[in-house]
Order: sequence, then C-alpha cells, then structure tokens
Amino acid sequence: MRAIIIRGMMPIAATHDVEPFRPRRAQRLLFLCALGVLCVYRLFLVALAAQSLPPAYPRAGATKLFENDEIQVWNIAWLKGQPSPLHRHIYDLVGVYYEPGDRMIIAVDGSKRPVSTKAGDVVFQRKGVTHIEEGTSDAPLRSVFVEMKTDGPFGKVTAPPPGATAFSGKTMPALDNERVTVWDLTEASARPARHYHPQDAVVAWIDGSGAHARFIARGTIHDDEGIGAATRVTVFELK
Ligand SMILES: [Zn+2]
Repeated sequence: MRAIIIRGMMPIAATHDVEPFRPRRAQRLLFLCALGVLCVYRLFLVALAAQSLPPAYPRAGATKLFENDEIQVWNIAWLKGQPSPLHRHIYDLVGVYYEPGDRMIIAVDGSKRPVSTKAGDVVFQRKGVTHIEEGTSDAPLRSVFVEMKTDGPFGKVTAPPPGATAFSGKTMPALDNERVTVWDLTEASARPARHYHPQDAVVAWIDGSGAHARFIARGTIHDDEGIGAATRVTVFELK
C-alpha cells in the first residue's frame, strides 16, 4: 500500500489507493467463519445432549448408602463387561476407593482411556463431567462416593462448646479444598480423642460385610466415630 508521509505524523493512506480484491484471503476468511459456526453448533449439540443424559447414579453396580438434603452417598462397583450408559455427573463428588481395579473411561468423542486405581486413593471431581465407564478387571474397582447437591460450599459451621476440641485427624488430611477435607482414619493412631464436629461430616468404613457410611451432624460431640473393627475408615468434612 502506498502512503504519503508527513513529518511528525503517522502515515496516511492515499485516498485513491484501493485495496485489490484477494480471492484467497476471502476464501480463508470464509473458511474460518464456517469453522467458527460449526464449532459453536457442535458445542450447542453437546450442551443439548448433556441436558437429556442420565445422571451418573443410580446405575448397575451402585447402591445408595444414604441420602439427605445435602448429599447422597453411594457404594459403587465398576463391573466388568457392564458399561454404564453415557451419563453426566450433575454434582461435585468426593470419594475413596477401597478395592483396587481397572476401568475404561470413554469420552463423548469416543476416545478411550484405561485407568488403574489403588485402594485408598481419594477422588474429587467437579460436576459436569460426561462419559461412559466400564470395569475391566475381574475383581471390580470399588469405592464410596459422596455427591454434594449444592454448587458451592455448604458454609454451615457450628461454634465450639466451651473446652471442646474440634475434630481433626492426627495426620495430614488426604485431601483439603474449598468443599471438603478428607481424613484417613484407618490407623487407630490417626484417630482423635473426644471431639466435636464443627461441620457436617460423613464417615465411611469398610469391614467384613462391605462398605458403610454414616452422617455426622455438625455439633456432634463424641469419643470416636462409632465404628467397630474396620479395614478402612475415611471421614469427609463438608465445608
Ligand atoms: Zn467424630
């Protein structure tokens, strides 16, 4: 492009200078526009499909341990050869795996991701995940999951009674974020003496008869979590 330069000023395009038509540039712009429209349309379709998908639970292999206004707690096995339907996780969730195992996670676009999980691993997942899951090990992966029914922290805290000690494990938490603190109390040495619970909590434990979970209302004062002999004990403090 030609330009007239005036001292001390920015270049000014000459008035008679007409930009030549560039077919390749026009084609490229058209292509990019079409691509953009296609992407938006695809996102729209995915969003539309997500609205009509079933939630993650209930499903085959999952049984509800209990439910209240704030949470629902599931005992889950990823059964071999029994893929879940395409589903959407509509709640934030936290959980602990208590039997190791393998599964295949299949994304919306069909891509597959094999995952091996150890017993004792803790999971936290934000709502909105959409996928298919299928167990792939003969002995299924098993977990207790706590689904949180509100989008943000519950924000319910009860002030301590005079002289009371707030609940805390004696080791570092297994996980701590804005929604939940997870304590592994499997070792008796990790368990606190008499304490009160400033926040609602869930204790999940595994014994010879399987997985169990109990709600501990904020304000509760007790000597222990009321569990007999257990091979795994996990406390989820709901913030
Ligand atoms: Zn307690």
